[in-house]
Amino acid sequence: MIITKKKPFETISESIKPFKRVFIVGCGTCSTVCQTGGEAQVKELAERVGEKCVGYAVVESPCDMRVLRRDLAPKRTEVDSADAIVTLCCGAGAQSTADLTGKIIIPGLDTLFIGKIERIGSFYERCRACTDCIILETGGICPYSRCAKGLLNGPCGGQVQGKCEVGGYQRDCAWVLAYNALKKQGRLEVFKKYRQPADRSRKPQEIVTR
Ligand code: SF4
Ligand code: SF4
Repeated sequence: MIITKKKPFETISESIKPFKRVFIVGCGTCSTVCQTGGEAQVKELAERVGEKCVGYAVVESPCDMRVLRRDLAPKRTEVDSADAIVTLCCGAGAQSTADLTGKIIIPGLDTLFIGKIERIGSFYERCRACTDCIILETGGICPYSRCAKGLLNGPCGGQVQGKCEVGGYQRDCAWVLAYNALKKQGRLEVFKKYRQPADRSRKPQEIVTR
C-alpha cells in the first residue's frame, strides 16, 4: 500500500488562495485505508475550504486512468469549472488527475512510502520499488527499505547486539534479521553471496506491453 500523510490544513489553505474555485479528489484505496484521503477526510476538507469548493469525488483508485475517467465523469461540470484540484491521494494519483483534467494540482498529501499496515496509524516501510527484487536472497527482508544505509551487503560495523546504530540502537538491524530468517529457513549459505553496489542511475520507469 502507498502510505501518505496529510499536509497541514494551513498549507493547503495557503496554496488555494490564488484560486476562486477548487475541486477535491480523494482516493478510495490507499488513502482511504491511511485515513488521509477517504470519504471522511475529503468531506472534512470540503467543509473547511467552504464556498471555494465546487465539488469533490472519492475516486476508487485515482492512479488508474480508466477508473479516474469513470469516477470523475459524473462530476465533469464541477471539475471543468474548477481553477485547481486538491488531491488527497499519492503522487501517482495526483499526476494522473493532472493528465486527465489538465488542471493545476494542489497536493493535499505527502507520499511517504510503500508499506505494510499493522493497524491504522502503524505503517512500516517495506519496499522502495528498486526494480530488481532480491528478498529471496535476504530471507524476505528488503535491504533498501529496512537497512538504514540501504546496504546490499551487511551488517555494517554499526550493528550492536542486533540493533542499528542509526537512530540510537532502537531498530533491529535489517541484515541481522536477514541472517536469522535465512538460518530459520536452513539457507544460511545464501547469506555469503556478495552483491554489487546498487545502481543509482535509475531512469523513469514505463512499461507498455501493448
Ligand atoms: S528488494 Fe526491496 S525495494 Fe527492491 S523490489 Fe524487493 S522489496 Fe522492493
Ligand atoms: S546496522 Fe544494520 S540496518 Fe543499520 S545501517 Fe548497518 S547494516 Fe544497515
